[in-house]
Amino acid sequence: MTAERCPTCGEWVFSKYHRCNPVWLVAIVEGEEQPADDDYSEVRAADEGDAAATGAEEDDSNSAEYSVLKGHGAYVAWVKAAADTKPRRFKVTGEAVPHYYAEEIEE
Ligand SMILES: [Zn+2]
Repeated sequence: MTAERCPTCGEWVFSKYHRCNPVWLVAIVEGEEQPADDDYSEVRAADEGDAAATGAEEDDSNSAEYSVLKGHGAYVAWVKAAADTKPRRFKVTGEAVPHYYAEEIEE
């Protein structure tokens, strides 16, 4: 079977036994800040910790500043399963991974 994109979660699926990851509500805030209801966005992930990391990554790339990757500030991901459930909090850290490229120099 060739890979197809799941119409529900957008993941590449190699098996017909695919099950979508659940949707979590994730808010990324700085330090002790309390997120407002509209700070939460939907993230598909296997569990809360994964949702926290994915949410932080998306937040970071949307801000175009890569603030987590730069190591500035202390970020906290608030993750909840539904709008009215108690959030769990995760400390978010990241690291920038260097990439190296090699290109032959023509004589
Ligand atoms: Zn899916």
